[in-house]
Amino acid sequence: MKKSVFSSLCAILMFFCGSFVSCGQKKNKPAATENLQVQNPDLAKLNRVLSSMSERAKNVIPNGNPEEFLADLHRVLESRKNFSSEDLSPFYLIDKNHTVGADYEPKNLVHLEKNDLFAINKNNLSLRPESYEALKVLAQAAKNDGITLTVSSTYRSYEYQKNLFAYWVKVDGLEEAERESAREGTSQHQLGMALDFAPVDDAFADTVPGQWVYKNAAKYGWSLSFPHGYEDITGYRWESWHFRYIGVEACEFQKKWFGDVQQFMMEFLDAWEDKL
Ligand SMILES: [Zn+2]
Repeated sequence: MKKSVFSSLCAILMFFCGSFVSCGQKKNKPAATENLQVQNPDLAKLNRVLSSMSERAKNVIPNGNPEEFLADLHRVLESRKNFSSEDLSPFYLIDKNHTVGADYEPKNLVHLEKNDLFAINKNNLSLRPESYEALKVLAQAAKNDGITLTVSSTYRSYEYQKNLFAYWVKVDGLEEAERESAREGTSQHQLGMALDFAPVDDAFADTVPGQWVYKNAAKYGWSLSFPHGYEDITGYRWESWHFRYIGVEACEFQKKWFGDVQQFMMEFLDAWEDKL
């Protein structure tokens, strides 16, 4: 079983000391640690942020070098320059407890037209330009492997999501609807960065496109939002068809440091931006 090195200050101090010993420096560990934190205030902040995270999140964070972690983190933060600053951050935390307003709509939604790269099975589909471009790259890679992806759902307005949730409550009852559908203001779809591939059900995972996407999406910056076995974390049951575009750097960060669970990484990034 993996043991988190970030689970307590003590563990982090051991971590720093480990780095020092491996660098062949003096063994005055506490002083060395203080010096390190003075030299790099990010290390102290890292400790505060990681300490604030849930036990479940801490448990998936593997052993590693905190300076390597910070270098990876800064690469992810830097990657935000690839996204429009007029819209919400690509790492905006949205879930059952973190919402977006009724009036939020991405500035420049691109309408998805019928095309040769991927199929669409609904009208009125649209995405933020960054995710639209990334979808084309993903679809081209799939095409190169002889696979056509079908897009079924993309941006949804607050109003649309409100009606959709009400619909699922009617069909499945409130309890089931809460597991599969987001209330208005809590859906990644309102950000214009998430999409559902078809078919929008568990059968997708066993299709050839489903297996291809599961294996390859992250290489192109698409992250599976609601993985199997994390309903207590994400609030939603496994959705093999739902991906959010966050960029290649963030997908790598998610896989390397957060057990490949998007929710843990988003919570970390949210806390990092919030804390001094
Ligand atoms: Zn979805």
